[in-house]
Amino acid sequence: MKNNFGTKRPISLQAKAGERLIKQFEFGSESSLADVEHLDSLKNLKYLLTSAHAPQDLGELRLNIASEEDDYRDFSISTMNNFIDSISDFPNVRKINMHFPPKRWQKITQTKGRVGNYSIMIDSIIKIASYAAKHDILLVLENLNSYWWDNQLSDGVDLNEVDWETKDEAFGMSPEEWIKICEDVSSDNVKLCLDSSHVCTYAHRFPPEQREERVMSFLKKSELIDHVHWSDNYLFDLRGRKDSHLLVGDGSLPLQFHKKIKNLDATLLLEHYYDEAGLLKELDYIKKI
Ligand SMILES: [Zn+2]
Ligand SMILES: [Zn+2]
Repeated sequence: MKNNFGTKRPISLQAKAGERLIKQFEFGSESSLADVEHLDSLKNLKYLLTSAHAPQDLGELRLNIASEEDDYRDFSISTMNNFIDSISDFPNVRKINMHFPPKRWQKITQTKGRVGNYSIMIDSIIKIASYAAKHDILLVLENLNSYWWDNQLSDGVDLNEVDWETKDEAFGMSPEEWIKICEDVSSDNVKLCLDSSHVCTYAHRFPPEQREERVMSFLKKSELIDHVHWSDNYLFDLRGRKDSHLLVGDGSLPLQFHKKIKNLDATLLLEHYYDEAGLLKELDYIKKI
């Protein structure tokens, strides 16, 4: 059954779009509940929130559920479990979106958990998923950025000159690894969240003629995708190395990519909000494609 916008499942807005717009279009909503000062302003949205974004950092430190350091890994896992507990105040949140842990995170501020191990990560996700299952929560795993800016690469650096093996990176950035993680976890309540703006920062690691193929590869196992962070970004110019989160239709991700996202059997969060005029323009674009 398709809705007014022609999508299979509901569209959501970020909580910052406000109660009026969310109600007007009968949208769902997503917010980061990690942000405590945010919680008060979310009280009004108590019944409108349908998904929640789990925390990634603790101050300057990135959490790392893939760390070989037992204490820090266990602490990172319990931070996720506490977050799952905290959403019990929001009865319609049935889905938590989670970022992957670092593979390498060498910043001076990262005093613990600088390195991640793939199989430790898989075990940790299984543990968090089984905790989430007790709360009837689905965990969706979000593909991450290629961090051009966090690695302080100069704006115009030639992509062939970057030695990515030495740069900070999280798991689940390439489509192949992102899909494999979900398959290796193999839990009923673990699926994928596709972030289309992050896809673009990754595709920029490749020459322009290969980028469309890299982007479309994220849809190879579309049955595993249950949630989308839908935004546009610049596929062919340097601005696309940043996580631009443009209105859908304002960037240069392939039209075919947007069409396939629209037809996914997944909840679709427009992961940006600028103003009402922008939202209406974007909804019109989505309706027409
Ligand atoms: Zn995210
Ligand atoms: Zn996202």
